[in-house]
Amino acid sequence: MKNLHAFTFNVFSEQTYLLDHGDGEATVFDPGMSSIEEKLEFERVCKSLNVKIVECLLTHAHLDHVMGVTWVSEKYGVFPRLHPSDEITWTQAPISAKLYGTGMDELPARGPDLGDHGSIIECGLYKLELRCAPGHSAGHVIFVAHDEAFVIGGDVLFSGSIGRTDLPGGNPDILARSIEDQMFTLPDSFSVYPGHGPSTTIGKEKLTNPYVNGAGTGMLQK
Ligand SMILES: [Zn+2]
Ligand SMILES: [Zn+2]
Repeated sequence: MKNLHAFTFNVFSEQTYLLDHGDGEATVFDPGMSSIEEKLEFERVCKSLNVKIVECLLTHAHLDHVMGVTWVSEKYGVFPRLHPSDEITWTQAPISAKLYGTGMDELPARGPDLGDHGSIIECGLYKLELRCAPGHSAGHVIFVAHDEAFVIGGDVLFSGSIGRTDLPGGNPDILARSIEDQMFTLPDSFSVYPGHGPSTTIGKEKLTNPYVNGAGTGMLQK
């Protein structure tokens, strides 16, 4: 996707995405920039694209996906939007930061809650369908761009893997169902931009993912 820029940030190798709306504005997804260098890199890309950040959307609120939200809100005046079912994960993030021994700024105010399953978020001309996909965290959502055939998927489905289910709010059966019902119902050609690792496609994961696949024989499906 030409207008989608990926960054790998923080000690957890989290994928932050920048969607250039094409009209001088842009949306940031899961801002995980942590070090000065990472913040400068993000700024440099925004400058080179000549875009202003006008929206900050979260797939979920695990520490690695929200490490940059305070900086983004201070720098661009844009507040992160989360699904209300993930409130508990949000509250937990600073506690997790302490447990992992990694520094974290105090969390900022949040923008308007993300809407219901099936609602549409407009990012310039891009229309993103919000789909609830719990199992990795209780209020995890994915953003589906039907016209451009891609998904911002967070920590649900990875290339050859899936999100972990051993953290609070995680549940392997629910995650498997989310992948089957919310991801595998999309056309095979759709690209998935996950919260960790390289992008993949729905078709490839349906065929080869060892945990949840299109034949129903994955490790989480037996
Ligand atoms: Zn996560
Ligand atoms: Zn993550």
